[in-house]
Amino acid sequence: MTDDVQEKIEKLYDEAQSALDSRYYADAEIIYAQALELLKQEDDSSKVSQCEEDLEKIKKDNALFAPVPAIDNHAHPLFRADLKNNAGLYMAAKHFRLKDDALPNGLEDMLEDMDKANVEKALIMGLDTSKSDHWAFKESMTTNDEVAKLVAQYPDRFIGYGSVDPRREDAVEEVERCINDLNLKGLKFHAAAVSTYANDEKLFYPIYEKCVELGVPIQSHCGTTGMYFTKLKYMMPLCFDDVAVDFPTLKLILLHFGIGGWHNQAMSLAFRHPNVYIDLSGSSPAIIPPEVYLAAGTPFYQDKILFGTDYPFVGMQSWFRTFNKVKRFNWKPETIKRVLRENFLKLHDSQPVSPLDILRNDGLSVPPDAVR
Ligand SMILES: [Zn+2]
Repeated sequence: MTDDVQEKIEKLYDEAQSALDSRYYADAEIIYAQALELLKQEDDSSKVSQCEEDLEKIKKDNALFAPVPAIDNHAHPLFRADLKNNAGLYMAAKHFRLKDDALPNGLEDMLEDMDKANVEKALIMGLDTSKSDHWAFKESMTTNDEVAKLVAQYPDRFIGYGSVDPRREDAVEEVERCINDLNLKGLKFHAAAVSTYANDEKLFYPIYEKCVELGVPIQSHCGTTGMYFTKLKYMMPLCFDDVAVDFPTLKLILLHFGIGGWHNQAMSLAFRHPNVYIDLSGSSPAIIPPEVYLAAGTPFYQDKILFGTDYPFVGMQSWFRTFNKVKRFNWKPETIKRVLRENFLKLHDSQPVSPLDILRNDGLSVPPDAVR
């Protein structure tokens, strides 16, 4: 082997090691494969077989966790005791076939699942149903103050969103408090749990207006839900088309991609609205429809799809074990990075661009006072 090749290979091994150290396992696989190609050209059979062995080992290890440090867009800090105290959630856990011994006992279990799954950060939130007249929703799931406390305790691991029952008289004030006082980064809603359509102009629109003013995203469950004592009519992704048209700079994430048959609706919204996204939470990768995962590799959706689990209903390690079993949907390395990590960061770091901004930037004539 020439010194030149030897040097190249050593450089590749160094790069692979630093990829492994920073938990970019998919990159390490690619770099090892490049080294293997070089070695094969050199016809050095002992070095080839050593490299093949190393690559196989990396691939085998990688089957257990995320190929890049992932950010989970939707995880609940909910534990065994919480689920038993809340009938709606308990039914959701039953729906997800969660066995009692698989339920996390507390935060330590959640952090361990994140560590083992190579999930660097998780977006956590509660659910405010304080205005519900149904007995199953009297007890709200994790308060905004509790979420803020967890984020303050683990700022490197958690990002918090607030939750506000839109039927509260002080709903807008609570949104403001979540962002300005509790340092939460957005709002999450569950239209069925609060029996209010997402396009309810009286109850939801003042909240959206405030979120636009504060420049924070919202995320909302859509599609079917295992949470019982709710009505599915509130969960149609199409309800959000009104919201996206009326609030063109509101960043909106449709959680669970409209699971249960409405993914085409959710996708048609993400397709046409510059600030509408979908996430993959609430489903094992084994049953995510091909339309959804194939879209992630296309220019229309490549920035619009986010990874999420809906922990503890779907575990993080189990999500990635299945993801690796289905060959990571045959996504290209850049698609993997975007969906598992970069789209989340970009969504939170960038300024929203509305259709009007696009027209104005391209020099089209738009009335100066037009807002939508
Ligand atoms: Zn959820």
